[in-house]
Amino acid sequence: MHVGIIGTGYVGLVTGACFAEFGVFVTCIDKDKDKIKSLKKGKIPFYEPGLDELVKRNVQQGRLTFTTKTDKAVKSSLVLFIAVGTPRRGDGAADMRYVEAVAKEIAANMDDYKVIVTKSTVPVGTGKKIEAIIAKTLKEKIDFDMVSNPEFLREGSAIEDFMRPNRVVIGANNPHAIAIMKDLYKPLYLIETPFVITNIETAELIKYASNAFLATKISFINEVANLCEKIGADVHMVAKGMGLDKRIGPKFLHPGPGYGGSCLPKDTNALLKMSEENHEKLSIVDAVVKVNERQKKRVIEKMHDAMGSVRGKTIAVLGLSFKPNTDDIRESPAIDIIGRLISDEANVKAYDPQAMNNMKKVFGGIEYCDSAEKAIEGADAVVVLTDWDEFKYIKLDVFADKMKGNVLVDGRNMYDVAALSKRGMTCFNLGRI
Ligand code: NAD
Repeated sequence: MHVGIIGTGYVGLVTGACFAEFGVFVTCIDKDKDKIKSLKKGKIPFYEPGLDELVKRNVQQGRLTFTTKTDKAVKSSLVLFIAVGTPRRGDGAADMRYVEAVAKEIAANMDDYKVIVTKSTVPVGTGKKIEAIIAKTLKEKIDFDMVSNPEFLREGSAIEDFMRPNRVVIGANNPHAIAIMKDLYKPLYLIETPFVITNIETAELIKYASNAFLATKISFINEVANLCEKIGADVHMVAKGMGLDKRIGPKFLHPGPGYGGSCLPKDTNALLKMSEENHEKLSIVDAVVKVNERQKKRVIEKMHDAMGSVRGKTIAVLGLSFKPNTDDIRESPAIDIIGRLISDEANVKAYDPQAMNNMKKVFGGIEYCDSAEKAIEGADAVVVLTDWDEFKYIKLDVFADKMKGNVLVDGRNMYDVAALSKRGMTCFNLGRI
């Protein structure tokens, strides 16, 4: 089978490489000429463990190709995945410009039956909208089917998530299109992956409801952590005690500086916009978003509690990506926190194992260091924002010996406060005793 993936970003490239690994012939298309040029040279445009080798192997074996030319790829593919971005618009809704442009490009180049699949996270009703755009753009009547096949991969473990997903969701109205999708995902059928086959609207909503629920767990535990600080309880024990209940589960119950990334902030906001447009208030999601905004401010408040003003002080920020094992800084809490430190006239030094090049495009004027140790050296305060493994192994003496000051704001609860206190450090974490 030949498939075309339109949009070779995070989702498009992982999807393309993984389908190629399944044995499918894949063309990844992107309008970004530089991206395609460097992919053709074997250069992966972002950091994702294992993706280099997967792409290289499938290119060598002739199953994975890259192009900027949508026309040829549309003609040669039976299934076309739309995997372009759906960023947040000013009013919170998903910006559908890119998806709609791709729909028109597909229609302009279709010459026989196609299955057109939205892989991008798209508001409920998009399947119908794209169908109408394509039908209107086609010069003659050509059959096609719409499918919604939302993606649930996590950056940092994207390949494993694609190859061994918890479930595959397929929303379609025509059994023929469902059969083609099942054939495409046959290797996952064979390992007994659960398939949820439903209509397009339901599939579209499953993605938003899932992300909103994950965001709810994070905001929930962040609020519980804040309460823990007031009453002398330990949020880690609370989370453990809760998570052992199988109805609750232990995942996404780790307090932090607020959720970020390319999905949870934009998808919760887009879901709120959808609820507003449909006159059906989602009060829980509304609260989740507000709690998250407050949580990002709490890290700064802790710094102010410890130091009074940060003006003229040197603050080392460890961790810039929104989570470990990725260089993605989209909506990372580090952006808000560094922005606030700069406006408070602090001197910011930063270190991240992968995300510094991306952050340099946002904040060119701060000091970027080669290692965590170099960032810590001479700092009045250190703030830890991402739980990269390498930060867990920083020797506690490094903080005490190399810093000028003694304040550590541990936004990921990684360090032993008692052991640091013994070394003369003043530590703040989230909801631990
Ligand atoms: P991305 O920004 O990394 O990639 C989008 C790509 O589409 C870019 O390379 C862009 O150049 C390309 N593009 C835009 N218009 C195009 C056109 N007309 N023709 C060809 N290429 C075009 O985005 P992403 O992170 O891969 O996200 C894509 C979608 O998947 C979004 O809807 C997102 O919400 C969803 N999603 C993302 C993740 C994630 O972890 N990143 C996970 C699940 C779902």
